[in-house]
Amino acid sequence: MRLSRYFMPILRDAPADAQIVSHQLMLRAGLIRQEASGIYAWLPLGLKVLKKIEQVVREEMNRAGAIEILMPTLQLADLWRESGRYDAYGDEMLRIKDRHDRDLLYGPTAEEVVTDIFRSYIKSYKDLPKNLYNIQWKFRDERRPRFGVMRGREFLMKDAYSFDVDEAAARKSYNRMFLAYLNVYARLGLKAIPVKADPGPIGGDLSHEFMILADTGESEVFAHRDLVEMGAPGPDVDWDGDLEPEVARRTSLYSASDEMHDAARFAAMPEDKRMTARGIEVGHIFYFGEKYSKPMKAHVTGPDGKDAPVHMGSYGVGVSRLVAAIIEASHDAAGIIWPASVAPFGAAVLNLRAGDAGCDAACETAYKALTDAGLDPLYDDRDERPGGKFAAADLVGIPQQLIIGPKGLADGVVELKTRATGERQTLPLDAALKAIIG
Ligand code: ATP
Ligand code: MG
Repeated sequence: MRLSRYFMPILRDAPADAQIVSHQLMLRAGLIRQEASGIYAWLPLGLKVLKKIEQVVREEMNRAGAIEILMPTLQLADLWRESGRYDAYGDEMLRIKDRHDRDLLYGPTAEEVVTDIFRSYIKSYKDLPKNLYNIQWKFRDERRPRFGVMRGREFLMKDAYSFDVDEAAARKSYNRMFLAYLNVYARLGLKAIPVKADPGPIGGDLSHEFMILADTGESEVFAHRDLVEMGAPGPDVDWDGDLEPEVARRTSLYSASDEMHDAARFAAMPEDKRMTARGIEVGHIFYFGEKYSKPMKAHVTGPDGKDAPVHMGSYGVGVSRLVAAIIEASHDAAGIIWPASVAPFGAAVLNLRAGDAGCDAACETAYKALTDAGLDPLYDDRDERPGGKFAAADLVGIPQQLIIGPKGLADGVVELKTRATGERQTLPLDAALKAIIG
C-alpha cells in the first residue's frame, strides 16, 4: 500500500477523554473512530488488525474441532422467552420492534439461537459431540462503556457452543476449548492465564476466565507464579485424545479472579509463588449443562434409547477487546508494538526523499520485493519530512522498517529498523531485504 493513496488518519494528540494507553493509541494511530458511546467505526488499519485476530481465533477453533457458522445479530424475543431470559436479562439488552410489531433484540450472546439450530437437526447421541461457533457482533447496553473497544456496547465476539450427551463428554469438549484458548492467546503474542471463575448456579469446576496481565485491567487476579510462566500447549495436542492431564497441570495451580478468591488457600502458598495483579478478561469458558436445552427441549436420544436434554457449554473470546488488550500489553512511548501475527503491515518502506530519482527507484525495488514476498508492505511515499515518517511508522507499530535516503544510497546502504527493539542496522538494500524476507 502506498501511503499517499491510503487512509490512515493519524492524530497528533489523543482526545482528552481517552483514559488508557490502548484507547489513546487506537485513536491516535487511526484504528477506530467513535460514532456513539461504546460504538466504533473500524478504520482501515484497525480493521486489518481485527481481521487478523479473528483469523487466528478461527484457525485455532477449527484445529480443536469446532465448526464455524454465522448467526444473525437480530434475534427473535420469542426464543429468549422460551429460555426464560427475555425478562431476566435486564437493561443490557437492546430491544427492537419490527414493522409487524414483533419483538426483536440485538443479540448480546447466542445460546438461544444456537440451541434452536441444534434442536432442529440433531436428535441422536451418535451425532455428538458438536461444537458450533461464530464470530459476530454483539450488543450490550453496558452501564459504563469505557476504555474504547475494551468495554464497548457493540463488540465482536467469538462464541462457541458445545453439545454433548452427558457431563463426562461435555468435560472433554471443555478441555479442548481450554487448551485451544491458550494457543489463541500465545499466537497473539500474549501471556494469558486461566483463572477459576464463578460457575453460576450449575456449580462445579468448569468455568474459567482468561486474563491478560496489565495494570489497566478491570479485574483483580490472584495466581501461582508457575501458572503465569507455563507456556501454551502448542498445535500438536491430540485433540481427540485425553486432555485431562494437560488441563489439570494448569488447573491444579492456584488462580482466581476476585469473586472466587480464597484468601486462605492463597496465603498457604510459598510467598515467592504468590502473584497478585490486574487482568483484562479476554475470554470466558463455562459448562452449564441443561440450562438452555431443558426449557428449549433440545433433546437427544442416548445409547440407552432414552431422550434427555443435551449438555452444553459456551466459550467466548472478546475479539475486538483483544485489539486493545494487545496494545496494553505491547507498546512504548513511541506507539504500538504489534506482534508479527497481527501487525497491519508486515514491513514499511520509508522514502526519506520522495521525488529524488535514486530514492524513488530503490524504494520501488524494495516495495515490489516485499510485496512479492507476501509481506503486505506499507510504502511511505509522501512528500513529508523524515521525522514525521519515523514517528508514523513507530506509532502504528510496523514491525520491520526499511529506511531509504539519499545519504545512505550514496554509500550503497539503507537502514533496517526493528520496531520492537529499536535496533537499527546499516546494510546494502539486498541484504536488508534478505533479512526481512528470510
Ligand atoms: P465482563 O465481565 O468484562 O463484562 P462478561 O462476563 O460479560 O465480561 P462474556 O459474556 O463471558 O463476558 O463474553 C465473552 C468475552 O467477550 C469476554 O471475556 C470479553 O472478552 C468480551 N466482552 C464482554 N463484554 C464486552 C464488552 N462490553 N466490550 C468488549 N468485549 C466484551
Ligand atoms: Mg459483561
